[in-house]
Amino acid sequence: MVSRVIPVEPFDLVIFGGTGDLARRKILPSLFRRFCDGQMPDQARIIGAARSDLTVSQYRDLIGQALQDALDKCDCSDENLAAFLACLNYIPIDAKGTNGWDDLAAIMRPDVVQAYYFSVGPSLFGDIAKRLKKHKIAGKDARIVVEKPFGHDLPSARDLNATLAKHFEEHCIYRIDHYLGKETVQNLMALRFGNMLFEPLWNAQYVDHVQITVAEDIGVDGRGAYYDNSGAMRDMVQNHLMQLLCLTAMEPPSKFDPDAVRDEKLKVIRALEAPHPSDIVRGQYLASEDKTSYLEDCENPDSKTESFIALRLHIANWRWNGTPFYLRTGKRLKSRMSEIVIQFKEPPHSIFESAPGQGGGQGANELSIRLQPDEGMDLKVTIKEPGMGGMRLIDVPLDMTFAEALGEQATDAPDAYERLIMDVIRGNQTLFMRGDEVEAAWAWTDPIIDTWKAADERPYTYETGSTGPEEALILMHQDGRRWRDLKV
Ligand code: NAD
Repeated sequence: MVSRVIPVEPFDLVIFGGTGDLARRKILPSLFRRFCDGQMPDQARIIGAARSDLTVSQYRDLIGQALQDALDKCDCSDENLAAFLACLNYIPIDAKGTNGWDDLAAIMRPDVVQAYYFSVGPSLFGDIAKRLKKHKIAGKDARIVVEKPFGHDLPSARDLNATLAKHFEEHCIYRIDHYLGKETVQNLMALRFGNMLFEPLWNAQYVDHVQITVAEDIGVDGRGAYYDNSGAMRDMVQNHLMQLLCLTAMEPPSKFDPDAVRDEKLKVIRALEAPHPSDIVRGQYLASEDKTSYLEDCENPDSKTESFIALRLHIANWRWNGTPFYLRTGKRLKSRMSEIVIQFKEPPHSIFESAPGQGGGQGANELSIRLQPDEGMDLKVTIKEPGMGGMRLIDVPLDMTFAEALGEQATDAPDAYERLIMDVIRGNQTLFMRGDEVEAAWAWTDPIIDTWKAADERPYTYETGSTGPEEALILMHQDGRRWRDLKV
């Protein structure tokens, strides 16, 4: 197959927190895959910067081991690995002190793209941003990449934005939400805005409802104390699910350009109505035979934090008036699965003797966009059941997994982090969150959380390995609808 990879410009990428979990499991393996694919130019350099007092050779050993752990053996030829490790440098640096900054200044090249990945806790963002400018390390167009969590609420997000804005302009700040880097999320935009077929139907007149699910089968494993201060609303809804909702609901941007896309997403967040308490179900997972409960995992028997949440939301605009958006996310559920489902309405009148629903056909089309596992799309259509026996209708999926049509290209899709890091180097912010978007998302989230605090109620409970609390099923049943199965 002919490679479609276009090498990016030469760059110096500094990873603050270069010895940490995220750098070892995601950032560096992603860079290595881009290297193996020929996208990293020869002059590219990666500089790890962290507190540990390592030599360059010790750092290369650490990352060499991490790459072997993170990648399949076949991805990792000795030759490629050695060549990639040769691009790595390391500088011990103290984000809050003076150590290491002059060394970093001495090796940065002013004539290549400069990117600084803040793979450290948000409390260090301001310290690092300040020192990058104070020591005259970061050039005018240098980019910084910041990870979630971007704030804990609106005031803290505003503070973080203001802190970064003191040192870097908005066009230099890349706020990562890795869900936006997924192939199918971009395919959602291609499907909507690259075809004539769907967009005319993409509104309240034809769409009955939308479901967005991000289900995890793991618990809060080892992160209990951190998670208990956050919960599913802050950890997942305010960022990942909100982003998926925006891309599903937004108006067509005038062009596929960072600000045009982000302007439209922002309008969706601003049009999102505050849900009534009866539109929300919160849950905590119970212990199973071999697994501990949420309360045990977070070591707080009085915790009222949710490990599951389901929401019924309404978007107050012309396009979506009357079409609910149901969101759910949780831990220790039946399976690990993320998808967006557009449930279309039934045809207004059936001409067939066997009405929709008989013979298995529901009569309503359903478009599902799977983010994980097996990224792909399904469109459920109603057809005649083959053979004799009259006009019996059945629902069948129209295959849109792309694997047959695209072959290797479909299965070799880059990981979200690979795409996003390359977008940073290219200077393309389309798939990154803008500061006002993040603030608008918190402005919507905060009052909901405040209401829970005031009510001081315990979330419902749910069985490990289930689909969440019964009450979440009832939320849908009340409306005559049901959640899609969480397939194992
Ligand atoms: P980690 O604790 O594994 O690593 C932290 C890194 O920061 C280490 O390299 C450490 O040396 C460095 N560091 C800490 N204090 C420092 C200081 N004063 N000066 C210089 N370096 C310092 O953390 P992590 O899991 O890699 O996460 C990093 C950030 O990314 C966090 O904000 C986290 O919330 C976020 N994040 C992590 C993941 C993940 O999968 N690990 C996913 C999404 C977001």
